[in-house]
Amino acid sequence: MNAELSELMKGRWGIEHRTYAWQQCRYCGAAGNDHPPAKCLACGSIQCQRDSRCSICLYGVVSGFSLGYPRPVCGYAHCGKEPIARAPRVRWVCTDHLSRPSLTIAGQKISLTDYIGQRVDERDGTRRSSYPRIVRFIWMS
Ligand SMILES: [Zn+2]
Ligand SMILES: [Zn+2]
Ligand SMILES: [Zn+2]
Repeated sequence: MNAELSELMKGRWGIEHRTYAWQQCRYCGAAGNDHPPAKCLACGSIQCQRDSRCSICLYGVVSGFSLGYPRPVCGYAHCGKEPIARAPRVRWVCTDHLSRPSLTIAGQKISLTDYIGQRVDERDGTRRSSYPRIVRFIWMS
């Protein structure tokens, strides 16, 4: 087993969910079988391979998804690198340019890197959300 695969098998961030009588993914609660594990390329959170958008940082790209054809590249001029996150205005952004875009949340400007950091803190419960918490993340090994 390669290192990347063994990391994915250690556990993942799941979502607190209701349980129903039908078959559900143990981690995210979606109807159907367990999703395979995957990693967000921006915040590093291991999670279900359910959506190309990270359920924790909301902007990161989850590994293993096709982002369409032709393959999108970082939207900054003359970059052309593989994107690891979505971003306002430029659409896609690579590792090198992750701190460039800024978001406006409740009238406050915040860099994409800082926003992702805050979401990770919320995941870990080290930061109190200023909004009602909609999703609770649980580490499941
Ligand atoms: Zn799932
Ligand atoms: Zn993420
Ligand atoms: Zn770039």
